[in-house]
Amino acid sequence: MQTFTPDQAGYREEIAGFQTGVQSTPHLVVAATSAEDIAEAVRHANERGLPIAVQATGHGLREPAEGVLISTRRMTGVTVDPRRRLARAEAGATWGSVIDAAAEHGLAPLSGSSPGVGVVGYTLGGGFGLLGRHFGLASDRVVSADLVRPDGTRTTGPLEAGIVTALEFELVPVTTLYGGGLFFDTARIPDVLRAWRDWTLDLPDTVGTSVALVPFPDLPMVPEPFRGKHIANVRVASLAAGGDQLVAPLRALGPIQDTLKTMPYTDSGQIAADPPNPHPYLGDNRVLPALPDEALTTVLDHAGPGAPVPTVLIIDLLGGAYQHAKASDFTPESRYTVRALSLVDPDAATVRAAHAKLFAPLTPESTGRLRSFVYGQPLG
Ligand SMILES: Cc1cc2nc3c(=O)[nH]c(=O)nc-3n(C[C@H](O)[C@H](O)[C@H](O)COP(=O)(O)OP(=O)(O)OC[C@H]3O[C@@H](n4cnc5c(N)ncnc54)[C@H](O)[C@@H]3O)c2cc1C
Repeated sequence: MQTFTPDQAGYREEIAGFQTGVQSTPHLVVAATSAEDIAEAVRHANERGLPIAVQATGHGLREPAEGVLISTRRMTGVTVDPRRRLARAEAGATWGSVIDAAAEHGLAPLSGSSPGVGVVGYTLGGGFGLLGRHFGLASDRVVSADLVRPDGTRTTGPLEAGIVTALEFELVPVTTLYGGGLFFDTARIPDVLRAWRDWTLDLPDTVGTSVALVPFPDLPMVPEPFRGKHIANVRVASLAAGGDQLVAPLRALGPIQDTLKTMPYTDSGQIAADPPNPHPYLGDNRVLPALPDEALTTVLDHAGPGAPVPTVLIIDLLGGAYQHAKASDFTPESRYTVRALSLVDPDAATVRAAHAKLFAPLTPESTGRLRSFVYGQPLG
């Protein structure tokens, strides 16, 4: 096991994660390579009365780590048991490696938009996946967890408080899906929002979908049709037959780009095409039972073209199997999320104030929030 103190080379690199807006300053970083390393780190922190934090990819960091930071990024082992349709992933494994290992056996995990996200952090937050309306939450598919308890002892069994050293969970028999995106020019945004909302009212649970409003910067690296524009992006991940027929009402709105096609599940990260590079971001969300026109107006006013702070706004369709999810974030009434995510630009206070204005009118009707999609501290 390698350890790093603030004065040692490699300390900053070990702490660096996807979220660069959180600056951790631990006394000690433990670069764990085994469950026993994690147990030892927990006992070491307990003996000295130091707080303990754990980090895999750094996608979900909320507050700076102090005391002992356990870095699991080296614990990337993944195995698949095709006969029992189970995968076992170590604490630092990302969805990409599980997707690839499962695909060799005609199986897939209940992964989400980004293959770079950590399996354990995602699952502990519930795990809202591309196919979740049909198969439910990732956390409901956990069979067994290897854990280090807060007292430093190790155990295997149901999920409980502690640091997960490995998770065993069910896979589903999926090899391909109909997925991708329809991209619409700025002027179409109000129509697209209403058409998408109407389209979602009676979709089968085999169809997962979101609509995103994305402000693209005017930079050479942004592809020409999107450069400097506010784009509406309808995302689809569907197991239903007749994909082209299904999306016909949305295609009729005239997208400027259309990437919908049948694809292997191994390409599912292309659907949302989340940015791969680390950056500083803040975000929060609300879950709503319906999307009345007033909610869409709120979204347009506070996170559409002309919004005071550039915001990626995503509305996801819930329902389906989520109605039976065990995680407390989901209720039978949960029907849509409204998620906001912004770069910390110009500063955190300005971004948080803009997000607060967006969510204030939505909060009275809201059934809560999904904790996975809170980046930074949740808004009140
Ligand atoms: C680009 C992007 C796309 C995303 N897409 C989705 C999505 O589609 N669906 C979804 O549900 N969520 C999604 N998320 C949210 C994501 O699931 C959470 O941010 C999650 O916490 C990330 O886990 P991580 O291990 O990658 O990150 P980390 O920042 O390394 O860990 C986040 C937190 O998880 C906990 N944790 C990590 N490892 C352990 C462990 N071994 N034992 C105990 N606790 C641990 C710790 O509290 C840690 O602070 C996305 C996030 C981003 C940034």
